[in-house]
Order: sequence, then structure tokens, then C-alpha cells
Amino acid sequence: MGNERADELAKEATNSPTIDITIDINLHYIKKLIKKEITAEWQDRWTNSNKGREVFALLPKINEKRVQGDFFLNQIITGHGTLAVYQNRFFGKATTCDCSNSREDRNHLIFQCPQWDTIRRKFFPINYKRSTIDLLLFNPKSRNDLREIMQRKLQTLLNQIEDEDLQA
Ligand SMILES: [Zn+2]
Repeated sequence: MGNERADELAKEATNSPTIDITIDINLHYIKKLIKKEITAEWQDRWTNSNKGREVFALLPKINEKRVQGDFFLNQIITGHGTLAVYQNRFFGKATTCDCSNSREDRNHLIFQCPQWDTIRRKFFPINYKRSTIDLLLFNPKSRNDLREIMQRKLQTLLNQIEDEDLQA
């Protein structure tokens, strides 16, 4: 009964030549409210998701303006690509680094692996071992070293694949 009356009134309203009710909120304010709501929901989903946790460890706050399009640095941010722990997960390769029996994850590559000492000496701060990946990543100088480490890492991996192919 109530629904029928509501439908009747709605139909009447669409036939009315004048607007009877005005809402005194401007469009700009409504857009701002919607944006705030969407942003909060996005942050909430990012915080509580179980996906992309390696990225979350470095970038916990969402940001609509941040764009990271660097092929090599993205491998550090996502943990995907040439790192042995990733190669293990997807191709069943060993998780150990070429330098030792250390597990080759991004922390090993950036802070510990002796293979990349020369590169680290170029732009990393002297006390880099007390720094964090995100600080090194978003510092314009040290990110050059990170990029070079990842480039060399990829080259090493490609050389190994080539050697394996030659032996086969
Ligand atoms: Zn190593």
C-alpha cells in the first residue's frame, strides 16, 4: 500500500513542470564528499587485503598521483621478477643467492649481497644498512644504484639461462 502510494507520487513528480524541492548543497561539495568516501574505502581495502603485501610494506598509504613506471625499480617494490625467491615461487628454482647460501630476497640484494658492493658505494648513504628500502627507493640518488643492481641482476640471470642453453 505504501509502495503504491510512493510510486503514484513519483509518477506525478515526473509530470510536474516545476521542481518543488531544491537541495542546498553545491555540486563541488558533493564531489568532494564522494571523493573522500572513495579514498577511505580504497585505503581500507588496501590495508586489509592479503594481496600485494610486499608492495604494502613499502607503500602502505594509497596515493592517486603516485606513478611508478620503472621496470627495474618495480621489481624491488613488488618483489616480482629476477629475485631468486620469486623465481622459486614461479619456476621452482633455488631461493639461494649466487654469493652464498643466503636467501635472495630484496633485503639481501639491497643490504647484504657482496656482489653489489661497488654499485652501492656510488650513491648509497654511508650508513645505508640502517636505512630502509623505501628511503633508498625514493631518494633520487640511491634509486640509481638500486636500478643498476636490478639491471645487473637481470643480466646475470640472462647469462645463466644462455649458459644452460649452450650446455643442453
Ligand atoms: Zn647474495
